[in-house]
Amino acid sequence: MTRTRSVLGVYPGSFDPVTLGHEDIARRTLRVADRVLVAVAHQATQAKSPAFEMEERLEMLREVFQDETRIECVSFSGLLVDFCREVRADFVIRGLRAVSDFEYEFQMAQMNRQMDPGMEFLFLTPDAHLSFLSASLVREVARLGGDVSPFVSKPVLRRMEARFGHTEGAASRGEGA
Ligand code: ADP
Repeated sequence: MTRTRSVLGVYPGSFDPVTLGHEDIARRTLRVADRVLVAVAHQATQAKSPAFEMEERLEMLREVFQDETRIECVSFSGLLVDFCREVRADFVIRGLRAVSDFEYEFQMAQMNRQMDPGMEFLFLTPDAHLSFLSASLVREVARLGGDVSPFVSKPVLRRMEARFGHTEGAASRGEGA
C-alpha cells in the first residue's frame, strides 16, 4: 500500500520556554510521523502569566529545532480542534511525565474528541531523566537564581540569562530574584 500524503503530528503547548523534555517529545514524534508541527497556543488553558512573549518562544523553538527540517514551529489561537482541521493534522501529540499529568491530559483529549470525533491523541513518555521537568519549574529555578543549564538547550539558556540575569550562585550569596 502506498501512502499519498505525509503523516502530520501537531504538538501543542505553551513552551514557555521550550525545555529538553519538550525537545525529546517532538523528536520522538518523528518515529511515528513524517512531520511535526510544534504549535504554541496563544491562550493557554491553564492561566499563567508568561515569562516569554509569543515571538520569543517561537524564536527559541526555531533555534532549538533548526537542525531538523521535519519539525516546524508556529503559533495558533482559538480551539485546537479548529487548528488541527486547518492544517489537516493526523493526530495530536502530548507528553506524559507521570500519573499526575494523566487526569488533565485525559480530560483535554476527551473534550476535544467531543468537539471533533475524528481527532486522535498520541501520548509519548520522555526519557526517564527528563520526566521530572516542567517549563514552570525551570522558570522558577531561573527566577531564584539557580542554574538551568541541565534543563534547556543553549539558545534557551542564553535567553534565560538575558531575562533573569546570569544568576548562578546568586541565591547562595543571598541576592535572590
Ligand atoms: P509545561 O507543562 O512544561 O509547562 P506545556 O504546557 O508547554 O509545558 O506542555 C506541552 C506538552 O508537553 C504537555 O503535553 C506536557 O505534558 C508535555 N511536557 C512538558 N514537559 C515535558 C517533559 N519533561 N517530558 C514529557 N512531556 C512534557
